[in-house]
Amino acid sequence: MDRLRETDITYLKGVGPSRAKLLGEELGIRSFYDLLYHFPSHYVDRSRFYSIRSLSQDMPMVQIRGRFISFTVQGEGAKTRLIGLFTDGTGTMEVVWFRRIKAIREQLRTATDYVIFGKPSEFSGHWSMVHPEIDSPQKAETTKGLRGVYPLTEKLRNRGITSRTIFNLVQTLIETRLSHVTDPLPDDLRRRLRLMDKREALIAIHNPHDSQQLVKAKERLKFEELFYLQLNILSYSRRRAMRIGGRRFTTIGTFFNSFYSQCLPFELTGAQKRVIKEIRRDMNSGRQMNRLLQGDVGSGKTLVALLCMLIALDNGYQACLMAPTEILATQHFETLSGLASKIGINIKLLTGSTPKKQRDLIHQQLTDGSLHILIGTHAVIEDNVQFANLGFVVIDEQHRFGVAQRAKLWKKNAIPPHVLVMTATPIPRTLAMTLYGDLDVSVIDELPPGRKPVTTLLRYEDKRLDVYRSIARQVKQGRQVYIVYPLIKENEKSDLKSLEEGYEQICETFRGFRVAYVHGKMKPAEKDAQMNIFASHRADILVATTVIEVGVNVPNATIMVIENAERFGLSQLHQLRGRVGRGEGQSYCILMTKPQIAADTRKRLSIMTSTTDGFLVAEADLKLRGPGDLEGTLQSGLALDLHIANLATDGQLIQLARDEAEKILDADPALTSSPNLSLAREMHAIFDKAIDWSMIS
Ligand code: ADP
Ligand code: MG
Repeated sequence: MDRLRETDITYLKGVGPSRAKLLGEELGIRSFYDLLYHFPSHYVDRSRFYSIRSLSQDMPMVQIRGRFISFTVQGEGAKTRLIGLFTDGTGTMEVVWFRRIKAIREQLRTATDYVIFGKPSEFSGHWSMVHPEIDSPQKAETTKGLRGVYPLTEKLRNRGITSRTIFNLVQTLIETRLSHVTDPLPDDLRRRLRLMDKREALIAIHNPHDSQQLVKAKERLKFEELFYLQLNILSYSRRRAMRIGGRRFTTIGTFFNSFYSQCLPFELTGAQKRVIKEIRRDMNSGRQMNRLLQGDVGSGKTLVALLCMLIALDNGYQACLMAPTEILATQHFETLSGLASKIGINIKLLTGSTPKKQRDLIHQQLTDGSLHILIGTHAVIEDNVQFANLGFVVIDEQHRFGVAQRAKLWKKNAIPPHVLVMTATPIPRTLAMTLYGDLDVSVIDELPPGRKPVTTLLRYEDKRLDVYRSIARQVKQGRQVYIVYPLIKENEKSDLKSLEEGYEQICETFRGFRVAYVHGKMKPAEKDAQMNIFASHRADILVATTVIEVGVNVPNATIMVIENAERFGLSQLHQLRGRVGRGEGQSYCILMTKPQIAADTRKRLSIMTSTTDGFLVAEADLKLRGPGDLEGTLQSGLALDLHIANLATDGQLIQLARDEAEKILDADPALTSSPNLSLAREMHAIFDKAIDWSMIS
């Protein structure tokens, strides 16, 4: 494979410097390897031959073997055409060309066997075919079966490079160079998983005998691609684990036990218990924990975080919880200090607006070790914040936190603290395995008992008055309402205008109700003030943009209206919906759209009305839009350049690849034993330049 990677495409027969330049610029094909891995987008059936006598009008593309009897040029100027009279012994057919007449005429002979391939058409008893593909019978025989059709660009087509040109180049490459390819996958693995041989798969992906062989070839190539990916991620995380030790939290002591027996306001759900066990195991493993905790909104992640922080305290360490906004940090502080008030721990809040005096006190208590738990925003990672003994860090809603910021936190100690990252953005497991490659993943897949699922409704513009009536009804019953406008790019003027108009319209419609207003362009202090007005029920309605998406907890809010819902992605809609349904009252999420929406938009929105399960929503989103678009999951700088595997649909293969990669690394962590050397080489060739996994951990 290395040689194919290193050989410039110019050296292939049929490719000169100018074609090489075109292929490079238009398709990124620069080496033999690139060409071999330029896979077809679909296939045409060249497995059987037809006779002219048996043709019928409704036939798709067919291939016919025969000879040209004569060639004539007809018409003039733009209407000039070349007509070849073609026979296969059962009948005759006119083959017509409108372009490249001279070149084609020079290539073709009478009394020579050819195979033509194209769409036959009939006009008053005469068959014809326009611009067919033409092969020698020998070529048609060796490439019998399905033939790859390749993605092209307009420019390539204009320069006379067709899908067939690519096919022929690939065939030349296969004939002349593919004997060099040895299979890097260990025999044992290949046999166990019944994977096709690599060489056979590379031939078959371009030119399979039949669809069954194609399926096996695809499976083999996808597996291999995913396998290197997992091997790379896992060996990175193992290297890191070896380099960095972890503190051992061996005891469960008074803090945990007395909280558990005296303060726990309810029985933990099974999922919460399971996750705490998983985290405990990590904390006592001697390695630094890096765990992603996924749990739908309202699944009770905060309590899990608190219990784990208490374990850190029991082992003589401090803990810290970091949230993306001041409001969230404050809410966490209030919840946690309320819960833990009876057990005598010192919890403090540090944000940008903490007064100097309080700040000084916090700094002092952190360094003398008398402060147990620090909760805050980015302020907690400022350089002057020093801990005596930081052992455990919780990061809430991690996609709002940059990698660099997290790294800064780790550097606060010689031995970095255990890290628990929490997110309510559900990410399908197999995708998380890849995107958050070296984080272990825990999932809370169960909501606390007694929750009433939010009822989600799709409403067109013409039902606006009804919607307003329901809002008024709820507010009169003492409930609160969110109305969210799309302001996707916070600088879009027209969006801002619609938000402002919306706000005015709401104030107008609901005279007598108190309306608060918040968007991302406001100064943080102003934003927080408005949010607080709503959170403390000094406003009935909050008109907002998606700034409210993360974390805000107002259990009294029972209606979430989303304007122009068609402009939001599913996971964003799901996040917004999670703002209601947090209290006792039945809650509603109303998706407002204009009356005319495309069928696929309606389908997308109907996922929201049919389930409240965040993982189902995320899976559906992933299938509909592909992984590249998943909000909140992809971090910048991460471009997975997959040739054939699809993170959205190849979940099973991802799992298989991961399991096999684990096995190999268990037996040979540095990939130095002889059957694994070629794996290591391939892996490095693919990834060394492409992705720096340390950037996304
Ligand atoms: P999230 O996972 O979205 O951060 P929270 O931790 O804020 O969810 O929990 C949501 C609500 O559920 C809180 O009011 C919390 O007190 C409550 N809660 C958490 N765990 C349980 C449980 N086991 N039983 C009942 N209520 C719970
Ligand atoms: Mg939360």
